[in-house]
Amino acid sequence: MKLLLVEPNFPIAIKSKNHSHFLPIGLLKIGTYHKLKKDRVKLVRGLKRCGFTPDRVLITSAFTYWSRYVHEAAEFYRKAYPSAKIEIGGIYASLMPEDCKKRSPFASVYRGLYRRSVAEKVAVDYSLLPDELDYQIIHTSRGCTRRCTFCGTWRIEPEFTFIDSVLPLIKKRKLVFYDNNLLANPHIDKILNELAKYRTDKGHALRCESQSGFDLSLLTPRRAKLLKDAHFVNPRIAWDGRYKTWYKVREVIKVLESAGYKRKDIYIFMIYNYVVPYAEMRKKLDACRRWGVRVIDCRYRPLESTEDNYKPGMKPQEFGEYHIHDRWTDSQVRRFRRAVRRQNIAILIDLPNGRYIDGCELRKVAV
Ligand code: SF4
Repeated sequence: MKLLLVEPNFPIAIKSKNHSHFLPIGLLKIGTYHKLKKDRVKLVRGLKRCGFTPDRVLITSAFTYWSRYVHEAAEFYRKAYPSAKIEIGGIYASLMPEDCKKRSPFASVYRGLYRRSVAEKVAVDYSLLPDELDYQIIHTSRGCTRRCTFCGTWRIEPEFTFIDSVLPLIKKRKLVFYDNNLLANPHIDKILNELAKYRTDKGHALRCESQSGFDLSLLTPRRAKLLKDAHFVNPRIAWDGRYKTWYKVREVIKVLESAGYKRKDIYIFMIYNYVVPYAEMRKKLDACRRWGVRVIDCRYRPLESTEDNYKPGMKPQEFGEYHIHDRWTDSQVRRFRRAVRRQNIAILIDLPNGRYIDGCELRKVAV
């Protein structure tokens, strides 16, 4: 069997393709699985012929609003390899299988994980990528114990499953954890202890990072210390709720600081263009400025949006051009985004509170 694994031509800058945020991990695991079955496997990123005629073309999908790239890929590979079976899986296919089937009726559409055993037991085949990476992706769990309304994770992976040790998985010095809710793994303390003690052949300690935010309610002082000892860098926490929960966020920042993290290396995830209105989001942002921590802003788009035509920049856009929440306006979306960037720079370069770089000038900017 010859398999072609396809990552559609998603709008990811070339320099970011191998960034840990954007690796097609699902495809890389499917690659391992089929190689073990002695199948011939190739991976293409974009729309390119692959040098053999595949029997199956497996196309991954990501955010629902990137759906058109998936269908472009399906159409391209259907024409390129008319005898191949075209199959689409991944996030968009799992969340909107009917839309996916309607728009590429010739394709088979898969929901959820390709095969649970592949997702959980099979290693990632990095050799399918053209460049060697200096880091490794690890999952200690699948799914999430929470059910946030805006999130698709628990819809795609409804069951929360986990492993109790990472030692057999470690191959590189830099580890990026892809868990949705790392601290929810009931064996997390044991795993963090393993990571703290681990040394490479050359005697180096690990460098770990969690792609998702840490769950505020699970980040106790003892855990924060364990995370630091386990060489986790740039801790991220999510503050998706209302401003009135500020004291919990401040407490966790203090806990991380006591564990040895610098404030400007701590990040707060915030969803905006969602139920918390602009003025309140600005209060949250101001609180982060006072605390000296940086913000990662996530613009909300409904899970069922199959397009996102937001154009960053100064030019205004109308309602309907992209998703603007009922409580927000286009101008507020843009101002919030700009304010986050300006604020993060100010924190990074240690400007005193109330001062920002605006354009090329250092000045006080009215909030
Ligand atoms: S905690 Fe994170 S992964 Fe879990 S449901 Fe909420 S947003 Fe999704």
